[in-house]
Amino acid sequence: MSGKIVVLPETLTHRIAAGEVVERPASIVKELVENALDAGATEIAVELEKGGCQSIRVTDNGEGIDRQDVPLAFARYATSKIGVFEDIYRVRSFGFRGEALASIASISRVEMTTRRASTPAGTRVVIEAGEVKELSDAGCPVGTSILVSRIFETVPVRRKFLKSDTTEQGYCLDVITRLALAQPEVKLRVTGSRGRPLMNIPAVKDPAERISLTLGQDFRHQLIPAAGERAGVKLGGFVSRPEFTRSNASQMYVYVNGRFVKDYLLNHAVMTAYRRLIEPRRYPSVVLNLEIVPGDVDVNVHPAKMEVRFRDPRAVYALIAETLGNVIGAGLGPLAEGSAGPSGIEPAAYAARVEEALKRYRVPSGSGKLLFGGSGVANREAPAPLPQLPREAPAASQAPAERHVSAERISFADLAYIGQVAGTYLVFADAEGMLIVDQHAAHERILFEKLRCQAAETDGRSLGQRLLLPEVVSLPPGDCAFLTESAPILEEAGMEVEPFGGDSLVVKTVPVFLSHSEARQLIIDLLADCAEADRGLPLVERREKIFTALACRGAVKANRSLTGAEVAGLCRDLDALPHAATCPHGRPLMVSISRFELEKMFKRR
Ligand code: ADP
Ligand code: MG
Repeated sequence: MSGKIVVLPETLTHRIAAGEVVERPASIVKELVENALDAGATEIAVELEKGGCQSIRVTDNGEGIDRQDVPLAFARYATSKIGVFEDIYRVRSFGFRGEALASIASISRVEMTTRRASTPAGTRVVIEAGEVKELSDAGCPVGTSILVSRIFETVPVRRKFLKSDTTEQGYCLDVITRLALAQPEVKLRVTGSRGRPLMNIPAVKDPAERISLTLGQDFRHQLIPAAGERAGVKLGGFVSRPEFTRSNASQMYVYVNGRFVKDYLLNHAVMTAYRRLIEPRRYPSVVLNLEIVPGDVDVNVHPAKMEVRFRDPRAVYALIAETLGNVIGAGLGPLAEGSAGPSGIEPAAYAARVEEALKRYRVPSGSGKLLFGGSGVANREAPAPLPQLPREAPAASQAPAERHVSAERISFADLAYIGQVAGTYLVFADAEGMLIVDQHAAHERILFEKLRCQAAETDGRSLGQRLLLPEVVSLPPGDCAFLTESAPILEEAGMEVEPFGGDSLVVKTVPVFLSHSEARQLIIDLLADCAEADRGLPLVERREKIFTALACRGAVKANRSLTGAEVAGLCRDLDALPHAATCPHGRPLMVSISRFELEKMFKRR
């Protein structure tokens, strides 16, 4: 970067999606840290007083700013990063609008010291409410240090919208985390009030190491590398195993050319890959970057630059959904135009989801300026909400192949039982079509729901099956601690477990549906199902995990023939079940094939 700052001409600024808003301390932190990265810094320190509400200091060892450029840096539309409009097709830097420092300086007091390596003396500047108050020589190291204080003093109404210091600090740390994940080779240090260390992330070469240093070691064991390429777009990064899910999307980090984005289309594609493997309203952890020729992506859409537009959104979608699908074992077949695709999982449902995402992507709803001349852009205010995992596949008319159905719409009393296929699948039919049920998945869901109801009805206390001889089990200390800590949850499920000295536990009761099984084996299986990563989960999430594990143990296995009475019992329970399309692990319970679909298969339509 030349470091020569110019004010962009008006003919150019009106083509750039404007509206940089300094909304809260985190917006300031983001702009300052991005500037430091753009300046080639390898070490950045962020100091937050009172969660950034009182003051924010960002210090970098980047290229610094020339003395004569210093006042210009604070002028609106002054940037060293682009000169002509076409540059924004090529831009690799975070900034290019030249608005951030001007906006920040207009609502606060800014004090900056900066020095370029080529000059012995640095510069100090003080700006208050947008006016330069002081410009002088300063002895300072190479790089730039900016202190922003009296934030929103000139616009008190903005202060009212700030949340508690702790919450604002959280937002600041979120911003820094996003940047940290994408810049493994930059050392980052963050301190809070009175110098309290908040984050200390060393520079590393290995992105996986950076992820665990930033998001926690728990994530480390869950990481699967993902890499793919299509139509000149490269995808790289890491995704979590499908067993490692979260109740919100806060650990879905998607980047385009190293820039964090919150993009509906990209998140939708990620969720499609996980769709059949995780439960509705659960989210994976991912850190993914798309490398794309800057000219094929428009970063000019959203003022906070969180949304992007692709020249070929379909290719980008397919790249993500299929690459991730392959690495996590979802087995999505390639998206073949117009055809049902190969034998991958439900190509029709996949195609329908792609269309759904693209439709939404094209919805005009804002006034941003598009590079690709499309009809409009997505909402500029809030980032698009994340797609939910739908509970049912699209209607038969849109999905000509097999589809998964929700139990809600079917009464087994109206269906004829045809028989069992492969010792595992129960086939039912009526005049309008057929239904295939996975016996294990279905039973697992039934038991899981029973455990849940039972726990709710008995106020956390449920009577299990008392063992004639309580079973004493010796375990490694970690396992023992985990089970002791989980004792209240186990008790809800009808399993009384108590410490028995040293690293031993005594099992007194087991869930009713498991009374036939051996308590010791049950404990071992339970521990195997609750991986290391699940053990730090909050109680509510851990409960789900434990209930799932117990339901899985208790459920009728695949490859076991069922008697007529057993099938009837299963059907009754399924009919009584509230809405559920998947087993607790997220696999489908049943698949239906309608008359329409049969007719398509036999080419009658
Ligand atoms: P933009 O980043 O969009 O160019 P900013 O208002 O954030 O606009 O910054 C204006 C200019 O000030 C930048 O183009 C850059 O030349 C200079 N600048 C800002 N921060 C730094 C920094 N930490 N180190 C070096 N130069 C900086
Ligand atoms: Mg900037």
